[in-house]
Amino acid sequence: VTGNTGLYVHVPFCREKCHYCSFYSEPSTLTDERIGSYIKRSIEEVEYTSSIYGSPEIDTVYFGGGTPSMLGEAISPILDSIYKNYSVDHDAEITLEMNPHDVDGSLLKRYRDMGVNRLSLGVQTLNPDFHRNIGRTGRPCSTTDLDLYFLAEGFKRSVDIMAGLPGQSEDDLLHDLSQLLSYRPEHVSLYLLSLESGTLLEKRVTVDDIFEQNQVLLWDRAIDYLKSKGFFHYEVSNFALPGFESRHNMKYWRYEPYIGIGPGAHSFVSNRRYSLSPDLHDYLEIEAFNYIYDERDFDDEVVEFVMTGLRCLKGFNPHDFKKKTGRNLPADVLSNLDLIVNQGNLKKKCEIYSLTTSGLKILNELTYEILKDHL
Ligand code: SF4
Repeated sequence: VTGNTGLYVHVPFCREKCHYCSFYSEPSTLTDERIGSYIKRSIEEVEYTSSIYGSPEIDTVYFGGGTPSMLGEAISPILDSIYKNYSVDHDAEITLEMNPHDVDGSLLKRYRDMGVNRLSLGVQTLNPDFHRNIGRTGRPCSTTDLDLYFLAEGFKRSVDIMAGLPGQSEDDLLHDLSQLLSYRPEHVSLYLLSLESGTLLEKRVTVDDIFEQNQVLLWDRAIDYLKSKGFFHYEVSNFALPGFESRHNMKYWRYEPYIGIGPGAHSFVSNRRYSLSPDLHDYLEIEAFNYIYDERDFDDEVVEFVMTGLRCLKGFNPHDFKKKTGRNLPADVLSNLDLIVNQGNLKKKCEIYSLTTSGLKILNELTYEILKDHL
């Protein structure tokens, strides 16, 4: 593995399952014996992966989940083991996802001492009614949580917020956004509530034209608002002040290598993708790390390249596909891209295709139009 490698640690525990969530996590409490076993096992996996890859240089580490902050300081031995087994750059970006419930001045200081230098707070909504309606567990983020979160020194800070909640108006959303921006985060992730199949929320909420139109409206308004406050829209769901993009997440969008640790974590190394099954029991009980390799054919590569490229608002150069795969993007994909440029939903400048404002609103339709013969 060459430089610029990221390392992702999946912490598969949450206090309870939120009603809209389709990520892999296990409901748990701090007395859960599996937490200690998971930490031990993650350290073994850090050691194992570093022995396979020869301790590549790591420039980003990301603790995601699940709810990594639920483990408090207990993540420290995992980070120590990463420092010990990998060459971690002195200015590596080290991010940890936090739940508002866990924001605490002394814990934040401990995180800083461990080397964490970027935090991402899952706010989702500040409104207690919406918080309850979507079945988000725990209590809503309070101004006390925000005061403490933004007071701690030594971190870059991101907040996650959701738009398009059932019954949410433009005023409701902009009220939350303006309150959050008054704390001056450097980064905002904005997600549209998605009703994933099999979730409890999906069974409760009826998606009709009014719901969908409201989602589109709120999405547009939130984007305009964030841009008006100086945020650069760099990926469909992500906004940053200049220079504060998530370096770790950029790896996923730029085809750079990353190593995943934990059940369900994905890796992309030497152009191969693999993961461990999202099953904590297997992770703890099966001695070998049985990685599942994702064997991709040419069409899969085309689809992933175009979908990822469209999501990055700076756009993509079709020639990069050849650099990555040794083959050209198929002619039908190139002519579909040019057709959409003529329709005004993409722009093309110096060989780089990027979404226009109108294209961003119909991204799913465009993606289908461009890739229909490869899906
Ligand atoms: S806290 Fe996050 S990962 Fe955990 S259940 Fe809720 S949405 Fe899912």
